[in-house]
Amino acid sequence: MKAIRIHQHGGTEVLTVDTVDKPEPGRGEALVNIKATSLNHLDIWVRQGIPGVPLPLVMGSDGAGVIESLGPGTGDSGWKTGDEVFCVPFRSCGFCRNCISGNEQLCRNYRIVGEHLNGMQAEYAVIPVEYLLPKPGIISWEETAAFPLATQTAYHMLVKKAGIKMFDTVLIWGASSGIGSAAIQIAKLYSAIVITTAANEKKAEFAEKLGADHIVNYKKEDVAKRVKEITGGSGVDIVFEHTGAKTWQHSQRSLKRGGKIVLCGATTGPKIEIDLRHVFMKHQQIIGSTMGNRSDLIEISKMIEAGKFKPAVSKVFEAEQIKEAHEYLASGRQTGKVVIRF
Ligand SMILES: [Zn+2]
Repeated sequence: MKAIRIHQHGGTEVLTVDTVDKPEPGRGEALVNIKATSLNHLDIWVRQGIPGVPLPLVMGSDGAGVIESLGPGTGDSGWKTGDEVFCVPFRSCGFCRNCISGNEQLCRNYRIVGEHLNGMQAEYAVIPVEYLLPKPGIISWEETAAFPLATQTAYHMLVKKAGIKMFDTVLIWGASSGIGSAAIQIAKLYSAIVITTAANEKKAEFAEKLGADHIVNYKKEDVAKRVKEITGGSGVDIVFEHTGAKTWQHSQRSLKRGGKIVLCGATTGPKIEIDLRHVFMKHQQIIGSTMGNRSDLIEISKMIEAGKFKPAVSKVFEAEQIKEAHEYLASGRQTGKVVIRF
């Protein structure tokens, strides 16, 4: 079978489409014939080199497909051959206090698929059956592969961590990114007033279609100043941060008294300067978050089935075009998710 792997870290030249043995499902596992997978920024960091990545590695955190066979001990799982599924993009120990209380993201043994263990970018993958969820019936394979990691992260940040409420005002950085596009749709389900950023006309149109109320061109305008104008001088209740160093000052200046910055990444750099006086005098909160848990994915699946959320797919590539797909994502030209079809 075909598998997209890296044997060493580096540029896109280290991505190879290898022929490897088709895996056999072990005890408690299902063999899934993968139809589509998607890229996350994580794929780029894994390729370039972060600690703890085993090599060679099958790439990719997100995947969706059909159960081809089931290993021993899965008789009572409820899954059967032919079931259409998507795969949970993480693993956890399953028995610590965090796991049994549904907070798998806090498990000390939390691991990300396609980073700490082999990923989904292959024709087949063996998955422990407890990490399978049913594919939402009303979306395509490409859309299914596009949502788990990014949407789970956005949902966990806005709903579980920031506790978004009806009519909150929210600043969401990067409307065209996978996570930004998911966050806009989720915030609108709470009737939030969404201010987002876009670098050009095409991305602004995309943001508008997703439901954004105000779109600021961060290349031409002072974002914090525009946020203050839009909110009548008060600032926003929530800032949805995933970019880090380049945007942090604007994020803090845009925040209301009592507001929250919820943060899951630092794509432009991790070092920032904070004036602590602003934080305590204005009763502000800075909340860290990464990934999410099964209940987030189940809630998102329900939103999709109810027609309230549609994963945004920017472009679909074939497995052999994996280098172009990475280059496309790295260029920042996408509006939504980059999908790889098998
Ligand atoms: Zn655990």
